[in-house]
Amino acid sequence: MSNSGSYDQIKEKIVKEIDAIIEKKEALVRSKQERISEKEEKIEIFEKGVKSGKNARKNLDLQIVEFSRQEADFDLQIGNLHAQIKIIENEKRGLQAVKLEREQELQKTDKMNLETVLILEKYKNDKALLQKDLEELITINDASIKALTIKKPEDEDDNTCPICLEGYNKTDHFRSCISLCFHQFGMSCLEKFLMHAVRLATETSKKGVIYIDFTDLSPIK
Ligand SMILES: [Zn+2]
Ligand SMILES: [Zn+2]
Repeated sequence: MSNSGSYDQIKEKIVKEIDAIIEKKEALVRSKQERISEKEEKIEIFEKGVKSGKNARKNLDLQIVEFSRQEADFDLQIGNLHAQIKIIENEKRGLQAVKLEREQELQKTDKMNLETVLILEKYKNDKALLQKDLEELITINDASIKALTIKKPEDEDDNTCPICLEGYNKTDHFRSCISLCFHQFGMSCLEKFLMHAVRLATETSKKGVIYIDFTDLSPIK
């Protein structure tokens, strides 16, 4: 019995050792599984990182392309603005030339206004001088320039002045007419009318050009 008891003891010891080894093996397998999972997790993280890095790079490439496009666009706009500046500068030069021309015209007009005022002053108290100068004007202009010319008409079919509606006389209100249209007026009335027209032009056109259209001196009816 002692021998068989001894075998049993040995067998039991061996079984225990086997159990211990199985236990160790299972622990090792668990550890191995854990390591494998850890490794797979890390691979997944790494792959995600690579993917997002690739995406980021792709986005940056796209941004660089877009920036280049915008840069070209800005260059185009700058070119257009330079062209506009040139046009504006040309217009400005044109306007400056026109302004200079207007200023010269204005100076000329001011001089003419001053001359007219001086003429009016000159004749204000000297009707005889006005009459004399008007006659001189008639002599100078009658044949050459078709401007203000006054002369006595040949026919005498109408006997009243259309300005004052009175008859003509042989002194100051003698029969006169504008040679351009042959409308008849008493000389003193025509004088007053012309003086008034010149004064009106002087008063109303201080900054403009004095221009009396003598061809439009139609008789007042
Ligand atoms: Zn009259
Ligand atoms: Zn007339």
